[in-house]
Order: sequence, then structure tokens, then C-alpha cells
Amino acid sequence: MSNSVTAARPAAPHPADGAPGYVKALAPYRPGKPIEEVAREYGLDPARIVKLASNENPLGMPASARAAIQSALDELGRYPDANGFLLKAAIARRYDVPAEWITLGNGSNDGLELAARALCTVGESIVYAQYSFAVYALATQAIGARAIVVPAVRYGHDLDAMLQAIEPDTRLVFVANPNNPTGTFVDAAALRRFIERVPPQVAIVLDEAYTEYLTPAQRYDAMPWVREFPNLIVSRTLSKAYGLAGLRVGFSVAQPALTELMNRVRQPFNVNSLAQAAAIAALGDAAFLQQSFQINQDGLRQLEQGFAALGLEYVPSSGNFILVRVGRADQINEHLLRAGVIVRPVGNYDLPEWLRISVGLPAENEAFLAALKQALAAPDGRA
Ligand SMILES: *Cc1c(COP(=O)(O)O)cnc(C)c1O
Repeated sequence: MSNSVTAARPAAPHPADGAPGYVKALAPYRPGKPIEEVAREYGLDPARIVKLASNENPLGMPASARAAIQSALDELGRYPDANGFLLKAAIARRYDVPAEWITLGNGSNDGLELAARALCTVGESIVYAQYSFAVYALATQAIGARAIVVPAVRYGHDLDAMLQAIEPDTRLVFVANPNNPTGTFVDAAALRRFIERVPPQVAIVLDEAYTEYLTPAQRYDAMPWVREFPNLIVSRTLSKAYGLAGLRVGFSVAQPALTELMNRVRQPFNVNSLAQAAAIAALGDAAFLQQSFQINQDGLRQLEQGFAALGLEYVPSSGNFILVRVGRADQINEHLLRAGVIVRPVGNYDLPEWLRISVGLPAENEAFLAALKQALAAPDGRA
């Protein structure tokens, strides 16, 4: 028992006692349940489990990225390029931004935290929306800043209310477009009006983790706005449409004054060599991106039709996941797990009646809908 984390501590003073209150009060991020864990707990064959819980790309990683990783293996004895020269060049080319305006991240999650740490401290505030990405709350609390959480409208960002909520000590506003976990989308005109009106001393982190899933009618390009607005940081990831969630690569784009600050608090080797090589390949793989988009559109329609057939309310989604109201979400989730389907309960987002379903392959969506139908028919199913 000597290595147990729960082992009783002697009554002597302990470093943990002096940890900042805001750190002790942090509620850890709750990730989707891993396949192996569900297989163990429910006695299931891991190969038959369907995981639709973490907004991963159901196509897996692109073959182009796999080949790039294989070629990069021989260099693993060396440190990665701390500056990510080749990856920044690929991003700069792909998105038409100066390479010096890019900050690489160990996933875009890293970049969100770098922005908070670089710009904000104890006693200052950060604004974000109710039902927005859990990491905004974590990044805020981890630095002892005060969260100003703005009520959502129809599960999406109320940008006017977010503007009104900015206080003299506000340093940063997080905006997710599309938003996770609700899938809501703010159109380019409304978003731009918002950015124009945010006071110049307040940074805007525009988190576009799902932007590749927007329909042609919704699409907009925020990169030119970075040239216009010195307080704008645009965040992107390779984890979703590019299929590299396990490698952890993301980046943010901002003018040099903000980029330099973010790079000061960044770990020098925060993006490993395999991730850099794979990201370069994936960024050039237009065919994979198009396939990811199409399979997601088809899957969203499939899930919407399934929900309609079951008489369930859902929030129309612009991401690669969809929020559905099932009533007793904990019971339904338990039934789904027993049937080998992992989805994401969102009680921690204050949405206790809802489940978030990541869009899978057609057969995975079908297996989920069949298991959901059974769960709703169970005695403890329907609310
Ligand atoms: C998934 C997600 C991210 C980032 O994921 P990384 O894997 O860390 O790049 C960022 N923002 C939102 C809103 C997300 O849903």
C-alpha cells in the first residue's frame, strides 16, 4: 500500500496544503471512456466496441501521415525541431499566414492554455459562454483567474451578452466556432461584428477546432482578420478533420506581439517529431480532408433521421458530433455501455438530459441508433 495515492498522510505539514486554493478546487477534465476500459469493465470484446465519445475522426489517421511517421522514425533519438520550421512553413503555405505568426501546440488545447497563461493572472478575468468547451474553465481556473460565464441562447454563444460581460479586468474572451459540446455556429458576419467591438486591450481566442466541417455556405476565413485585429488569436487543430488526435498537434495564429508572448511560456519541445512530420503530410492531404467532410455530413443526416424516428430532440450541429436529448442520460448511457457503445454524457456541462454523439462510420452510427432504441425501450429508459 506504500505507493497508494490514497495512503493516509502523517499529521506533519505537507506541500499539498499550501497549494493555491484555485488549484485544489480544480475539477479534472473528464475524457471519453477509453475502449480498453469499457471492454474490461463490461466484459466485452474491444474489437466490437463502438466509440463515439471524443469527436475523433472515424476514418482514423490519413495514410499520408502514417507514411510520414514511418520515415521520421529513424530520427527519434534526436530532439524535435523546437521551432517547428517545416511545419510552420506548411501551415503558412496552407493558410496564407506569416510563419512568424504561428505558435505550435501539443494539441490546440496547449495553445488555449498558453494564451491564458501568457496574458492573464490571478485577480483578472476571462469571458466564455455557458456550454462551451470545458478546457476554457480549466485554463482559467488553473491560473487563478476569474471566470465570467455568459448564459447561452439556444445552446449557442450570445455574442452581444459576451461583449456586455467584459469588465475592466477582463484580459481574454474564448469563442468556439463551431462550439463543442453543442455544435452551434455563429455566422461570419456576426462573428466579425463581435471582434470589431471587443475592446483592443482584450484578447479574443477564436477556437476553430471544427472549422473544416462547415458546409460551403457556412465557410469563412478568419486568417485575414488576424492581419486586421492585433488582439485576435485563431486556434486550429489537427485532431479532428485531419485525423491526428493521438499525436497532439494544434496551432494558433496571431500578430507577433501576442505570438512572442505565447512562445515565451511554451515548452521548447511541445510538439514531438512524429507529430510534426505527420501534420505536414496531413495538411497537404486535400483528398482525406474532403472525405472526412463528406462522411461527417452523411453521418449527421443519418443520426438526425434516427433521432427524428425515435422522437428525440437534437441540436442541429455544425461539428463532427451532435447533442441529443434522451432524458435520463445516465441510465441510457449505462445501457449503451453494456451494449458496447461509448458516447459522452454531458452532465458536467450542465446538460444532464443530453448525450453528445461523435459522428462515426455508417455502420457505427447504425449500431449506436439500434442500441439507443433498445435503451429507450428498457423499463428505466424513457423519462
Ligand atoms: C477537440 C477540441 C479542441 C482541441 O483539441 P486538441 O486535440 O487539443 O487540439 C479545441 N477546442 C475545442 C472546442 C474542441 O472541441
